[in-house]
Amino acid sequence: MRTVYVNGEYLPENEAKVSIFDRGFLMADGVYEVTSVLDGKLIDFDGHAARLERSLGELEMASPVTRDELLAIHRELVSRNGIDQGLIYLQITRGAPADRDFAFPDPDETPSSIVLFTQNKPDLAGNPVARKGIRIISIEDVRWGRRDIKTVQLLYPSMGKMMARKAGVDDAWMVQDGYVTEGTSNNAYIVKDGKIITRERSNDILHGITRAAVLRFAAEAQMQVEERNFTVAEAQAADEAFITSASTFVMPVVEIDGTQVGDGTPGPVAARLREIYLEESRKVAL
Ligand code: PMP
Repeated sequence: MRTVYVNGEYLPENEAKVSIFDRGFLMADGVYEVTSVLDGKLIDFDGHAARLERSLGELEMASPVTRDELLAIHRELVSRNGIDQGLIYLQITRGAPADRDFAFPDPDETPSSIVLFTQNKPDLAGNPVARKGIRIISIEDVRWGRRDIKTVQLLYPSMGKMMARKAGVDDAWMVQDGYVTEGTSNNAYIVKDGKIITRERSNDILHGITRAAVLRFAAEAQMQVEERNFTVAEAQAADEAFITSASTFVMPVVEIDGTQVGDGTPGPVAARLREIYLEESRKVAL
């Protein structure tokens, strides 16, 4: 049985509880982060901690922990659960006031709730799916206008994953005004004539921590990067496509809406970026 962290305590997972009045439960009034673990160490921890702070700030939500406390909790959970490869899920909500009310509670009376748990994924880095790539469909992006804040309001991304499953594929890219925004839980890229193309950062997409690292490594490896919008048709006609996220790292996309991308197998740019990302982020893991 896992040991999880809830509001200051390490507990067996079946003893950890939050209130029915918790605003995360009632109103999706919470933010989260997912950090990967390789060789028992945290990948891109500082990026995730910084984005968490930004998400909290945008929602005027108090953080119950400092960056150093957060790091210590992550490490303690990795150690207690013996995680070599896996994920750590972290959620902070606006706490549990005494009743349900749309107005935010006074943070002095209602402290934020914090929950962390680990997910063991022995195949995270060696994921065999990366060798054959994933197939996706495109769907309309009907999410709210602040996708840069990493909230726990994940109903539409869940519906998107189900639409993909019903279509017999792996995932979905969301499209707004004719342009791809991002994947249901990842950032989206295409490669054309050696150039890596991905939508620029704005409130329309989550500013992926993996995205930032991959674009930095790409620039360091003298690869060309262009941050601009692209359509599904352009993606279908690209040489390669791929996604990035903390749980998939760099994952090739080989089919979009039934059309093969390139020759329908993972391309060299995605494979190289996956390799560089894993190698470089392992070196600086905490
Ligand atoms: N976009 C969305 C909508 C996501 O949910 C995620 C992952 N949570 C990402 C992008 C990728 O972000 P990261 O690289 O920080 O995992």
